[in-house]
Amino acid sequence: MGSVLDAECTEPGTKVTVIFVLGGPGSGKGTQCANIVRHFGYTHLSAGDLLRAEIKSGSKNGTMIQSIIKEGKIVPSEVTVKLLQHAMQESENDKFLIDGFPRNEENRETFESVTGIAPNFVLFFDCPEDEMEKRLLSRNQGREDDNIETIKKRFKVYLESSLPVIAHYSSKGKLKKIDAAKPVDAVFEDVKAIFNSTSEKVASEEFQHLQDSTSS
Ligand code: UDP
Ligand code: MG
Repeated sequence: MGSVLDAECTEPGTKVTVIFVLGGPGSGKGTQCANIVRHFGYTHLSAGDLLRAEIKSGSKNGTMIQSIIKEGKIVPSEVTVKLLQHAMQESENDKFLIDGFPRNEENRETFESVTGIAPNFVLFFDCPEDEMEKRLLSRNQGREDDNIETIKKRFKVYLESSLPVIAHYSSKGKLKKIDAAKPVDAVFEDVKAIFNSTSEKVASEEFQHLQDSTSS
């Protein structure tokens, strides 16, 4: 049986559109992804939410994932990539926002080699640490990692492991950086401008793909 992620999808940007949404903890990735879903019809896949669902499901990896999250560390790539790949295969959609992933270079390399997918672009929510800390401490989502001790560890992991991934995409010219310290609505105005200017390009690539497949 042909999976959505097989052969035809190994060419980036043809069949599946993937946008990585990166930024520190509390930078507003999840909030803005919900807005993007409403306006632009993407499917939102939060790596953290998938991992938390895996803990809840009582899977054999659950306790391992739970203790890593509590420590603010990064779950092994194979686990996270499998969850993301599965979620994409289950979806009817072909446009995905992957939020909070890749968190380190190994995550990035594993995703690329396992799925053969490269992101169309990467949204980076740039926010000062004191603002992120304030948001995390006031969001009350009942998360085990939103306490000051784990937050400090998450910031450290972000600086050491996630910023290099952001630098990588910047060097490839794929990074779209947003000032995430502004109020939610103002940030979304900037996000919309990015999607409006790139959707034309994505749409024309899709049209080209459609023409290629109907003329053969
Ligand atoms: N996490 C991980 N790999 C991922 C995404 C998340 O290991 O690809 C773990 C990590 O421990 C992280 C936690 O899940 O600190 C919460 O991630 P989430 O993206 O939900 O937090 P956010 O950054 O949005 O506050
Ligand atoms: Mg999140």
